[in-house]
Formats: sequence, C-alpha cells, structure tokens
Amino acid sequence: MESGTIFSIQRYSTQDGPGIRTTVFLKGCPLHCAWCHNPESISPRREIVVLETRCVGCGQCREACPFGAAVPSTGPLPPRIDACTLCGACADACPTGARQLIGRTVTVDELALQLARDRVFFEDSGGGVTISGGEPLAQPRFLVALLEACRARGLHTALDTAGFGRWEDLRDAARLTDLVLYDLKAFDSERHRRLTGVSNGLILDNLRLLAGEHRRVWIRVPLVPGFNDDLDDLARMAEFVSRLPHPPLVNLLPFHRTALLKFARLGLDHALDGVATPSAAALARVREVFANVGLSVKVGG
Ligand code: SF4
Ligand code: SF4
Repeated sequence: MESGTIFSIQRYSTQDGPGIRTTVFLKGCPLHCAWCHNPESISPRREIVVLETRCVGCGQCREACPFGAAVPSTGPLPPRIDACTLCGACADACPTGARQLIGRTVTVDELALQLARDRVFFEDSGGGVTISGGEPLAQPRFLVALLEACRARGLHTALDTAGFGRWEDLRDAARLTDLVLYDLKAFDSERHRRLTGVSNGLILDNLRLLAGEHRRVWIRVPLVPGFNDDLDDLARMAEFVSRLPHPPLVNLLPFHRTALLKFARLGLDHALDGVATPSAAALARVREVFANVGLSVKVGG
C-alpha cells in the first residue's frame, strides 16, 4: 500500500479549482519561493512548530518528552532539540495547541476514504479534490496512487504543481487528473532563480509538453509586488502562454500577508515584511498584459 507525507487537508476551499474542493497539501518542495504561502510544506520531513503567542509556559511539553530532562533550563522545550525523534509526545501533551507536530504519514486508501466523505459538497458545486503542496511531484508514486484512488471513487481531481519534476511523473499524474493548475512565477530564468532558488527551464519545458497532450490546464501566476510584477517579464510570459497548444485560462493570484506569521514560527527567513497586497490598478495593468495576447484571465483561484 502506497503511503505519503501530508501536512494539511483543507475542506471547503474555493481557491483551488472549480466548485467547493477539499485540498490535500503534500509535504516537500524543491523550490524556495520568497513569498511561499505554505512554508511548513518545504521540508519533506515532519517538524515541530511552536506558536509562541499560545504558550502558557506550563512545561508539559518538557515533561512528556523522553529527552526533556536532559535539556538545560526549565519551562517550555525549545522548538528544536538535537535528540528529537519527532515522536509528537510533546505536541500531544501541549494543552493550548502551542506546540504542534507538522506532517503525518497516510496511506492512499485511508486518505481517499476521507476525501470521498466530502462527495456531497463536490456534487452540489462541481468541485472535487485538489492535490497541492509543497510540490506534489516530489512524491510521485504517492501522487499517482492517490489520483487513481480518487478516480476510482468518481471524484473530480485537480493537481496544483509548479512543474518542477520529471516529465514522466507529471505526464503520468496529468493523465489521471481532470484539471492541472500550473504555477508560473517569473519568465526570465535568472529572475526565477533569484525568487525561487531554481531556473525555470524545466518548468517551461514541462509546460510545453503538458499543453501538447492535456487540454485542461490553468496557469496560475502569483503576483508579489516588487518581486515578480515587472510588466515586461509578464508580457513575455503571456506571449509564451498564448502560443501553447490550447491556450489555457490564466489565474492571477495577488500576494496576501497571511503567510508571514507562519514563516516566523518556522524560523524561516523571509523578505516580505514591507510588501503590500497589489492595488486594484496594478492588477488591472497585469490583467491587460495577458488579455492583450488573447488569453482569458481571472483574478483569484
Ligand atoms: S517530538 Fe518527541 S522527541 Fe521531539 S521534542 Fe517532542 S517529545 Fe521530544
Ligand atoms: S506544553 Fe504547550 S503551553 Fe505548555 S510550555 Fe509547552 S508549548 Fe507552552
């Protein structure tokens, strides 16, 4: 039985494809986007997170930890200790939810059964299951098995990917997917590397191949002011997308600030403190760039 690591399941989502959806977030991502909305998705491993504002200093995490007595000082355990085995005992013992174990291993059957319980919402709204991350292609066997299990249960499926993976894995997953949500973060390769840590050559190559054999693709462009909102770069991206076979719908996803607290609690650096949500005028300008080459554009997921 195939199993994988997920970090969250979000029900009643209206931003991850058509209708009401249940989105499964897989853990692990090879990109490190400066604006990542799901920083807990980056590490493929489980990890301990502490929400300091919820901590009441009771020390129960220390008492529950097999190594707690050996950690110097008193009160709350530090978020990370060298001997940690990620057993989760400290998180289970925390009375306020301040200490959490992020990530769990699930089998395909267990997960598909849980997802199928939302069928009534999918049927009424034209929704379904979206598999996101992290980067789902980072767990290709689990991804394909999960898509097969959803299809066997008659559930509409969407795959939310940055396309940074083996073409064979993307191809196999797409063949089992009703809709692919394909993220493009910048068109210039150096800019892309600066913003995400990787070049976009593989991403663009995979998109060309995907568009050649899959008709249901939506392009998703996160818009982060000062990072990837250069209109010349977006115009080159729009030109590229417009020349794909079966030019896809383009979703513009304006940056929002809800991820900043998550970055802080994971101890990850970010450079977004001064960044605001794009203005309506800025969004309209970007929308025009894509519409000018004949693409259909929608703001939001
Ligand atoms: S996850 Fe287990 S080993 Fe790690 S700090 Fe918590 S109780 Fe200790
Ligand atoms: S158990 Fe929770 S609330 Fe108590 S000290 Fe540990 S993290 Fe803080």
